[in-house]
Amino acid sequence: MLTTEVENFPGFTHGVLGPELMVSMRAQAERFGAEIVTERAFRVDLSAAPIAVWTGDTQASEPAVKAKSLIIATGARSLMLGIDNEARLLGYGVSTCATCDGFFFRDKRIIVVGGGDSALEEALFLTKFGDSVTVIHRRKELRASKIMQDRAFRNEKITFRWDSVVTNVLGTDRVTGVQLRDVNTGAESEIPADGVFVAIGHAPSTELFVGKLDMDDAGYLISHEGTKTNVPGVFACGDVQDHVYRQAVTAAGSGCMAAIDAERYLTSLEQT
Ligand code: NAP
Repeated sequence: MLTTEVENFPGFTHGVLGPELMVSMRAQAERFGAEIVTERAFRVDLSAAPIAVWTGDTQASEPAVKAKSLIIATGARSLMLGIDNEARLLGYGVSTCATCDGFFFRDKRIIVVGGGDSALEEALFLTKFGDSVTVIHRRKELRASKIMQDRAFRNEKITFRWDSVVTNVLGTDRVTGVQLRDVNTGAESEIPADGVFVAIGHAPSTELFVGKLDMDDAGYLISHEGTKTNVPGVFACGDVQDHVYRQAVTAAGSGCMAAIDAERYLTSLEQT
């Protein structure tokens, strides 16, 4: 979970810190007997029962875990620009989630980087809070759908800086602006801003499952009838199979669905 403050998780009147929510969820799962192993999975075999997962020691020939059922919740990561100060100021004016952080930019000057549907969706959402929203795109044509473009062009709070790349995020303790380079002329300029939302896409963490599970063109796992994948007993939940909602609450909801689906699958095995 990248965001620090989660404002839309049900039951928390004043929001909840992401890390705090994670600690409570972990303790709750352990109370019900979950054993939590923190290791990196580097190989899976879903081709035969039992399902096998190799973790930890990459030299190990035997899988660390064998299971009748597997729930995949490996998530997705926001793509970042990889420029100076971006990582350092993440949470201090740099964000990758308008739904999570927009609230903190009331009456502020906001920058959104990107030219796809995500960027325009973030920009439109942020107009509810910000004083101004400037979309910075590296080309002159947007990649976003026509309908989103029309909405953004009609919105008086949104302006565009075309043919420009962000080369640095400015600010010591908090974001104060960005440095830009015009891709045609090479001219450098600066725009003052209080918030920078990077919206250049997401990448699901599905490398482990390439060639093993059905994925869409962007690499997200395809789930059907709830959280089923194309392999019986293997279920997917959270952002790894959802590029639309991407919220802690929706991920938690689909996690619950996957647990129910897995339990029913295990019960069906016992009955056969
Ligand atoms: P996307 O379509 O891949 O767009 C990414 C945008 O970021 C592109 O405009 C790209 O520029 C720009 N970009 C990528 N890397 C960059 C970099 N290093 N520096 C500067 N700019 C960079 O990703 P997305 O907007 O997240 O959308 C993903 C999918 O979800 C799409 O199919 C989209 O339609 C869908 N989606 C739909 C909705 C909706 O319908 N409401 C909302 C969100 C997402 P270029 O154009 O030059 O490549």
